[in-house]
Amino acid sequence: QDVRTLVESHLATIPDFPEPGILFRDLTPVFADGPAFHALSEALTEPFAGRFDVLAGVEARGFLLAGAASVLSGAGVLPVRKAGKLPRKVLREEYALEYGTAALEVHEGELPPGTRVLVVDDVLATGGTVGAAARLVERAGWQVAGIAVAIELVDLGGREALGDRYEIFSLLQY
Ligand code: 5GP
Repeated sequence: QDVRTLVESHLATIPDFPEPGILFRDLTPVFADGPAFHALSEALTEPFAGRFDVLAGVEARGFLLAGAASVLSGAGVLPVRKAGKLPRKVLREEYALEYGTAALEVHEGELPPGTRVLVVDDVLATGGTVGAAARLVERAGWQVAGIAVAIELVDLGGREALGDRYEIFSLLQY
């Protein structure tokens, strides 16, 4: 079975969550299915094979995908955390939410300079989240190998907002 068909067959789509008018794509049934989760984790890194050293997973759903893809690919994991969780000296990037801002952090010096980092998350919407993660990688002195997401919400324009700076792969587009 085709990877896209397999993953899509486990995807849940929830109307009006977390607010009226939002069609929420829920990957938890994909994570819950061994073969679908395996296939998704493998597919995310496949376009970047041989071109990355570490997977940057964005808290929290990106952690699951980066962790699984790490074991399958042999690359390490860089946890990109919500503000205030990391114990050592951090770099912080703020990004816009619909209301207000949020921030992501990584430890300064966590990886050697020039490390090739593939940014992984579940969903690309406006691009704010993975954009902030990519800027952190660059500010830390590493290289963005690309951005890989399970789902791209095309109408929200994330790909355009991120520009042509980064190679972006999404398995499914809606
Ligand atoms: P962005 O920053 O690109 O606007 O939004 C992406 C972030 O919001 C991701 O970290 C993702 O987890 C979350 N997100 C936005 N829309 C959805 C959705 O429909 N489903 C899920 N699972 N997450 C979403």
